[in-house]
Amino acid sequence: MAKRVLVSGGAGFIGSHVTVELMAAGYEVVVADNMSNCDLTCFEGVKKITGKDDIPFVKMDFCDADAVNRLFSQYKIDAVIHFAAYKAVGESVAEPVMYYKNNLESFLNVIEAAKTHGGCNVLFSSSATVYGEPDELPVTEKSPRQPATSPYGNTKQMCEDILRDSVKAYAKYGNEVNAGAECNGPIKGIALRYFNPIGAHPSALIGELPRGVPNNLVPFITQTAIGKRECLSIFGNDYPTPDGTCQRDYIDIVDLAKAHVYAVRRMLDGKMEEDYEIFNVGTGRPVSVLELVNAFEKVNGVKLNYKFAPRRAGDVTAIWADPTLANEKLGWKAERSVEETLAAAWAWEKHLAGKE
Ligand code: UDP
Repeated sequence: MAKRVLVSGGAGFIGSHVTVELMAAGYEVVVADNMSNCDLTCFEGVKKITGKDDIPFVKMDFCDADAVNRLFSQYKIDAVIHFAAYKAVGESVAEPVMYYKNNLESFLNVIEAAKTHGGCNVLFSSSATVYGEPDELPVTEKSPRQPATSPYGNTKQMCEDILRDSVKAYAKYGNEVNAGAECNGPIKGIALRYFNPIGAHPSALIGELPRGVPNNLVPFITQTAIGKRECLSIFGNDYPTPDGTCQRDYIDIVDLAKAHVYAVRRMLDGKMEEDYEIFNVGTGRPVSVLELVNAFEKVNGVKLNYKFAPRRAGDVTAIWADPTLANEKLGWKAERSVEETLAAAWAWEKHLAGKE
């Protein structure tokens, strides 16, 4: 029988792409979301792409422990991928309590339910933000984490630690170590540290749907190109980089989604070498803001209105991944070029505008 994967926050940008790839790989999927930061656009898109109209969908809040327990009672879950979290850096600085409460409580509820319902594998969506401003580039999984500069970033570090400690305590549940703990099962965990996910599904049926003014670069670019925003501000052109603008590791959303399938397979096929593992999910390729803007203009044949603006508080100068570990251990590799990804992002923006 096909293994079942719960995708918390599965109606969002990353969750919807991951759902598509999991289903393509033959997994049963349960999507759960409280719809606090998205509508049903992407979930409907997932149904169209997969041709499946009956994907189980539960509208629920992962901070509600009873609801999480009910979900784990209703479905036998073999692995959970946890996306249900707030993600706006600036908002987290303004509303730290809201961020800590939501992001930590929801994850604790997932782990507790996983443990008490016979055990389950847990994949946590972490972020390259845990590396802060790195001393050495590219960063490997062994590069030190830096103190977080926002409550959002701190929740990523704290959830990594919660998973690490829980796995340490519960990975052996159900065997000789905890022979008496009948209802408790083992938990193993993987944290994937994403670099900068961008783009959209090649079908242009799912993609990023930022609410209000986008914080992230690519949605701001596409919205400027379509005329929704007047002008893109490039934050800082005096950084110590080749062209003065920040460098990031932009990873295609479909490539990123596939990394989850490889990680889930590793967990479910019993291939993990440690009970808790961490992988960078990036391309290994630094791209500056200016390079990205130029590539967008070139591949899509559009002119972008942009200006240089002061640096944005909290931005690091440069970060990119050493993805060797994921390449070797997961057998996963980023495949799509920046150009393909930016073409997909543009197709999605046009789809939203009803132009294509
Ligand atoms: N950026 C920019 N203008 C914008 C949004 C972002 O110049 O309107 C820059 C930002 O300073 C950073 C890069 O684009 O160097 C990526 O920013 P984003 O917010 O997408 O991701 P981050 O790396 O901060 O997680």
